[in-house]
Amino acid sequence: MKGCNAVMYLRLSKEETGGGILNESNSISNQREMIRHFLEKHPEITLVNEFSDDGKSGVDFNRPGFLRMMEVLKKGEADCVIVKDLSRFGRNYIDAGIYLERVFPWMGIRFIAVSDGYDSEHAKAGDDLLLPFKNLMNDAYARDASLKVRSTLAAKRANGDFVNAFAGYGFRKSKDDRHMLEVEEETAEVIRFLARCLIEGISAAGIAKRLNAMGILTPYGWKKAKKSTYVTAFQKREDFLWCAGMVRRIAGEESSSGWLILGKTKSLGYKVKKRYPSSPEEITRIKKENLKILTDGEFQILQRALSLDTRAAPGEEKIGKYSGIICCGGCGQSMVRRSVKRREKVYRYYICAANKKDKNLCSSHMISKERLEKALQTVTEKQFGLTDRKKNPKEKHRFSGKVLEKQLQKKREDREKYGSLSAAAYGDFRDGLLTACEYRILTEEIADGIQSCEKAEKEILLEQHRWEKEQGLTRGLILWLFEKVEVMGSREIHISFCFLPPFKS
Ligand SMILES: [Zn+2]
Repeated sequence: MKGCNAVMYLRLSKEETGGGILNESNSISNQREMIRHFLEKHPEITLVNEFSDDGKSGVDFNRPGFLRMMEVLKKGEADCVIVKDLSRFGRNYIDAGIYLERVFPWMGIRFIAVSDGYDSEHAKAGDDLLLPFKNLMNDAYARDASLKVRSTLAAKRANGDFVNAFAGYGFRKSKDDRHMLEVEEETAEVIRFLARCLIEGISAAGIAKRLNAMGILTPYGWKKAKKSTYVTAFQKREDFLWCAGMVRRIAGEESSSGWLILGKTKSLGYKVKKRYPSSPEEITRIKKENLKILTDGEFQILQRALSLDTRAAPGEEKIGKYSGIICCGGCGQSMVRRSVKRREKVYRYYICAANKKDKNLCSSHMISKERLEKALQTVTEKQFGLTDRKKNPKEKHRFSGKVLEKQLQKKREDREKYGSLSAAAYGDFRDGLLTACEYRILTEEIADGIQSCEKAEKEILLEQHRWEKEQGLTRGLILWLFEKVEVMGSREIHISFCFLPPFKS
């Protein structure tokens, strides 16, 4: 092997010396030691000089030791530079690259970085000492790019452009402009339906049951169905069942009242896929009139219905009409329903919950359901001039039952499809394309499908009728009008209205 005269270059930066946290492996003596050890195994290399910079940063090459070394190299007194590792040579990778890739090769200088295992003499095409640093630079570039992307997104959000990857339930991305959202009628109707049910006092669990019975797809099921453009009739129903939590979550979404809320989660950097909740000031809120699924009034009543701590009695899907509204004027506790049967006739009362538990806690404050109802109806008429919810435009829900009609139509079509499938299956069996066993399995599945369609159709018709019956002082109207109704006794109630000063009756 060709012999050469080498200089060793050692460097220790200020940061590495200060603070008593000296990295021992980077100390000058350690660097020297490592290089000597290397030289012992390379007798062809003769060490002719040593240069060092103690307490000098590696960011630039304006270091006394380094400059003296360059003088020696220029004079031709040495033709090899040995360092412990590249970071000793320099930390400014662009300048380091100029020395290693242009200056040294041009001067015919061999470069060895001991602990990097690099020797320009033996370097193959793929050996690039600078590679890790190029990666680091790419990293820095990527970090910069990621920041730019994030700030562009923030700017778009401030504009009200929709930049999230998915449109939430009830909405879709506009076909004309992928950055804009629009109301998706099919799913918006489902939101209106469940809002109306909740307002009218049907429990979330009860609503989930109804939606399942009518075969309405869950948000997840809908998303999948949209993606595949074709949902098989034999899709697994268990994966697409509504539950009370889903109903409550959708009902609580501010987006249905036209609030576009952007930047709820953020990524912490270009490398982290996971998203984290944003701080309040990072969230952009914009009210969009064209994105309203519910009116502001409907949304308010809905939130009120959700916030009241009400539960349906065991075995009932509807909560009490006055639940969360009427309370005992004596102790403030809720009033509970009680019924007494006398001579074939059932009398319904409300009594103080505390009294029901223990007679010593509070007196009964009993009021008959009939009397309470009549009093509230009279007051409503007096205060607002309305007895019938139809006269109250604000209370009239925009829910039109479109979702039910559409769903009904879909179920009928599905049933017809099963019918023709049945005929085709029989033809295939007769022609010997299906075995007897296959034919039997197929006909069973078809029969199941037809049956579930018929059941869903019946449910939908039932649901359509339910709403036609609702009249008078409904749960929704009560929530809209009354803040609180305190029962003082059978002949006195105190009413706090949602919009008017208290009224005594
Ligand atoms: Zn009481």
